[in-house]
Amino acid sequence: MPKLQRLRTDAFHAQKGRCCYCSLPMWNASPDELKPFGLPARTANPLRCTAEHLVAQQDGGKDVAGNIAAACWLCNQRRHKRKSPPSPEAYRAFVQKRLAKGKWHPPGVAKLRVKPRASPRSAG
Ligand SMILES: [Zn+2]
Repeated sequence: MPKLQRLRTDAFHAQKGRCCYCSLPMWNASPDELKPFGLPARTANPLRCTAEHLVAQQDGGKDVAGNIAAACWLCNQRRHKRKSPPSPEAYRAFVQKRLAKGKWHPPGVAKLRVKPRASPRSAG
């Protein structure tokens, strides 16, 4: 397994399959993984698990465990579409705000939203 794929899969399991930004369940190997949530495979595309570089590659972020988190495809590509990607903390706050207004995922996907915890991961 390529290194980045292994780091992504490790992060996926460490985060219990949830996106580090929107907290929605993701699929890692097959969209069928979201069938228990009532999501047809076609609708599940934005929730594909991707390797998120917390420090962006363009800013020198490396493919190492501490710098790779699991993020859904949609959150990942929207963050890096910006000229200067916001910090993970700032971006997560932004995503959560949009989610609360129902303006992030397509409606069929957004119904999977869970109440965000104060902190996605324990510090350290
Ligand atoms: Zn997400």
